Amino acid sequence: MLDFNPLSLSLPQALASALRRLTHLAHTSSWDQWAVQRLTPTQRRILDVVASRRESLTLSALARELGVTPATASDSVGALEAKGLIQKRRSEVDGRALALMLTSEGQSSVTALAALPDPLLNAFDALTPDEQEIFYRSAMKMIHGLQETGALPVSRMCVRCQHFEPFRAAADARNPHYCHLAGSPMADRHLKLECPVHEAGDQTTQNTNWGRFNGPPPAKQPS
Ligand code: SF4
Repeated sequence: MLDFNPLSLSLPQALASALRRLTHLAHTSSWDQWAVQRLTPTQRRILDVVASRRESLTLSALARELGVTPATASDSVGALEAKGLIQKRRSEVDGRALALMLTSEGQSSVTALAALPDPLLNAFDALTPDEQEIFYRSAMKMIHGLQETGALPVSRMCVRCQHFEPFRAAADARNPHYCHLAGSPMADRHLKLECPVHEAGDQTTQNTNWGRFNGPPPAKQPS
């Protein structure tokens, strides 16, 4: 009998290899789409970040969110300005700072890009809804871990938000979490990685919520 163990990658190595194939597909297919719009991946990401914000976004805040230097962010913003997709205006929050906003052409570009076919999106058709939810939860845990080590910039995700309460309704397996801002229960699939109305919780709240979210669901109370 053949022992596959010494012939195989470790499970983390196999998973990383599989994810690299998927991200390669995402990058190459997206590159074709962005090329139509004359955008680099960083420019595309900037349009998405600016479009997702309700409040004004400064250049330094954008650089922090992208995990790049202010000089790199400034170069990409300059290119988007030259294409007429982004404009700078005086910030409503800090009159001394300039805020980034989409022009109407930039808004049209974001809408057009969102409507393009996405092969990575179609790949998830191979998973059941339950498998997709487990995948999303696992990805969120990986992203949170990478943010904690500084490998990824911290994002405006639910598990870092003061309005988030994980497993508020442990008895409701489909919608166990709660957003106090919306006043609504949430399933794992509703959790945001980038929420426009996110308000960061203090460190104690974030640690407590992450411990509850990451641990086993609380036991049901006897009725
Ligand atoms: S406000 Fe946004 S980030 Fe905060 S819990 Fe609600 S949906 Fe999540």
